[in-house]
Amino acid sequence: MGLLDGKTILVAGVTMDTSIGFATARVAQEQGATVLISNFGRALGITRRIAGRLPAPAPVLELDVTDPAHLAGLVEQVREHLGADATLDGVVHSIAFGNPETVLGGKFVGAPWEDVAQAVQVSAYSLMSLAHAVRPILTPGAGIVGLTFDATVAWPAYDWMGVAKAGLESCARYLARDLGGDGIRVNLVSAGPLKTLAAKAIPGFDEIDGVWKDRAPLGWDNTDQEPTAKAVCALLSDFFPATTGEIIHVDGGYHAMGA
Ligand code: NAP
Repeated sequence: MGLLDGKTILVAGVTMDTSIGFATARVAQEQGATVLISNFGRALGITRRIAGRLPAPAPVLELDVTDPAHLAGLVEQVREHLGADATLDGVVHSIAFGNPETVLGGKFVGAPWEDVAQAVQVSAYSLMSLAHAVRPILTPGAGIVGLTFDATVAWPAYDWMGVAKAGLESCARYLARDLGGDGIRVNLVSAGPLKTLAAKAIPGFDEIDGVWKDRAPLGWDNTDQEPTAKAVCALLSDFFPATTGEIIHVDGGYHAMGA
């Protein structure tokens, strides 16, 4: 019996098989879920190819979280693939973007507002946009899970993405407040550094990466997305029925160490 037997989960933000979203989709399928995945723009073709590496077929939806038409048509897209009565038991927000030329990699002071606004819209505000878009078909008890990188401190190179993550963490708490009445849980997983496309695009992210392994009491493998994916799936499951507005760290214990 799987942890997610009988559940239908949308994983938004899958590009490569290194994507945290891909590992989450794989683990969710292994745990019995029916999974849909999404991406946008030119990378959609890559996502369709990568979907073939999942254990079971997964419909690929087109979703740019900044495009009102995509958000408005999202329920329809789910229903095109799964039928007119389709509902969702879980949604994973595995999405972030910041222009590496202007808002990441040591360019905090003087960063232009347009690019900061884009980072905040794609990486934080979109948790609300996505939740709002799928709310009509979320089942009572459904889980929404997003991915953060500990926003309680300032990191080298992370810059405005760190500010966006602080916004995401706050957004998750407000969503937990407003959707709790419908029995919908909203939680985040705070992952340690993982070698994905998004991480590689951050100039200087290696600085963070390097110290992690030594300081984390459990050690840290930055090529293994599975511990993070498992935590996301656990939060989507019925084993966290009274947990919302929470941030679970999957970082080898790094966050709890002083030095
Ligand atoms: P990833 O594979 O690059 O995934 C990020 C996804 O966001 C990509 O599929 C990307 O699509 C998508 N995306 C960007 N802009 C979008 C938009 N406007 N609409 C819809 N999708 C959009 O990298 P990842 O590391 O797995 O990132 C997943 C999440 O984990 C992010 O929230 C990230 O901040 C978080 N996280 C990552 C780490 C880490 O070290 N890697 C640590 C903690 C938290 P394109 O590729 O087509 O742009």
